Amino acid sequence: MKPADTAMANAFVPGKVRLDPASQRLVEERARLLGPAYRLMYEEPLHFVRGEGVWLIDAAGRRYLDAYNNVASLGHCHPAVVEAIRRQVGMLATNTRYMHEAILTLAERLLATMPGELGHVMLTCTGSEANDLAWRIARGFTGATGIVVTETAYHGITDAVAQFSPSLGASVDLGRHVATVPAPGDPGAEGPGGFAEAVERAVAGLRRHGIRPAMLIVDTMFTSDGVRPGPDGFLAPAAEAIRRAGGIFVADEVQPGFARTGDHFWGFQRHGVVPDIVTMGKPMGNGHPVAGIAVRPQVVAEFGRTSRYFNTFGGNAVSCAAALAVLDAIEAQGLQENAARMGERLTARLRALSSRHPLLAAVRGAGLMIGVDIRSGGAPDKAAAARIVNGMREAGVLISSCGMHHNVLKVRPPLVIDAAGIDLFADALAHVLSTMEGDAR
Ligand code: PMP
Repeated sequence: MKPADTAMANAFVPGKVRLDPASQRLVEERARLLGPAYRLMYEEPLHFVRGEGVWLIDAAGRRYLDAYNNVASLGHCHPAVVEAIRRQVGMLATNTRYMHEAILTLAERLLATMPGELGHVMLTCTGSEANDLAWRIARGFTGATGIVVTETAYHGITDAVAQFSPSLGASVDLGRHVATVPAPGDPGAEGPGGFAEAVERAVAGLRRHGIRPAMLIVDTMFTSDGVRPGPDGFLAPAAEAIRRAGGIFVADEVQPGFARTGDHFWGFQRHGVVPDIVTMGKPMGNGHPVAGIAVRPQVVAEFGRTSRYFNTFGGNAVSCAAALAVLDAIEAQGLQENAARMGERLTARLRALSSRHPLLAAVRGAGLMIGVDIRSGGAPDKAAAARIVNGMREAGVLISSCGMHHNVLKVRPPLVIDAAGIDLFADALAHVLSTMEGDAR
């Protein structure tokens, strides 16, 4: 059977590289027990047994710098988060049909990080569920059914959300109610009116099919589109455009949220725009499943009137304890400031490398969310990006790639990384690039 285009960058291809017997056994057991839909990363997949701060430790005891994992954003196994989960799970783990203080404290703390217009918080277990809920609320509020997303967006795995996640690949159908726009700042794809004009065109396209738009949803750092941080502010006119058309603006903060961009706590704040719904997840529990949304009260009113919301695990006391410990640690350890400072250091080192290695055509990002555009003769070079990603893995540093052409290195170290970690990263990349150039000569 010919494999379909499932478009995962840096996926392990069975049979391509000879694996050691222990890895080969695990690969085969996964196929036998988990079936055909799972993917592993890297030419030679990794088997970790422990995490500690910025490090992942494999079965042979080798340490890898984890510069890819934006879930364990405070570092793996952060002691305060581990302790908060341990304490709460040993005391009470119930759901939101009983009263509990922790969910209220969490909602209050989250709302305090956002503009005052966002007045309610609802909790889920995953980012996909958060986006699914946002979509239901958007439909209830607008009475419309259309969606505008970027052309390589990823928003999650539920049936509804997969239909507006084009990065899942050509073999996963987009809904007929979904219109895509080029990633912002994409030279050659974006018209003179920029991102907002692209949104207007997409809305007009939906209208031609008799579909009114319910929402524009974007990852506010456009991570799977290849990391598109700027120019600052370009989202505000796009949000206005969708609102003029009767839809709402949903900021998917699953990637940039919780201080990763350094300059702000949330990615949308870089654009001076107030979303109608903010969705969040991944780093929110530093590895414990907790996610959710913040929403303007008037936007969720109709959904609340017509639907009741219950999520067995979402918002339970344990996940609230984990999320509160994450908020505390970001503050106590000054991690937003660290993300800004270390992000500058990493960006400067990457730019220095790009002046010596033309493959690194552009370095984009904010804080510790960085994309490095790999090109040869101006064209996206997917093969070179894959060689770099796998070379870095050999050198003991984990990254991956993203973007429509899989040619953008996706670099997201934990917010706790220090100068030595940044230097280790940059030195490893310098080594990989020199080796590749040596091989090419
Ligand atoms: N939105 C974005 C922007 C994401 O990157 C992801 C996960 N990669 C999701 C939503 C879905 O989150 P989850 O995997 O927790 O369902």
